[in-house]
Amino acid sequence: MTHRICPNCDGYASAAITLGGRDQNGHLRTITAHCPACHGTGTTRTRSTREGARA
Ligand SMILES: [Zn+2]
Repeated sequence: MTHRICPNCDGYASAAITLGGRDQNGHLRTITAHCPACHGTGTTRTRSTREGARA
C-alpha cells in the first residue's frame, strides 16, 4: 500500500503562516498549522472500511 499525498494540504502538512508582525526580537511571528486530515504527515493512508471490518 502506498502513501498518498494528502488532498487537504497537498502534502504541505505543516505550513508556516506569517502573522504579519514581528516579536520583540525582530523575528517574524509565524504559526505552524497542522493539517487535521493527515495530522501533519502530509500523506493519507486509505483504508477500506470493509476490509478491516470484523463484526
Ligand atoms: Zn494534510
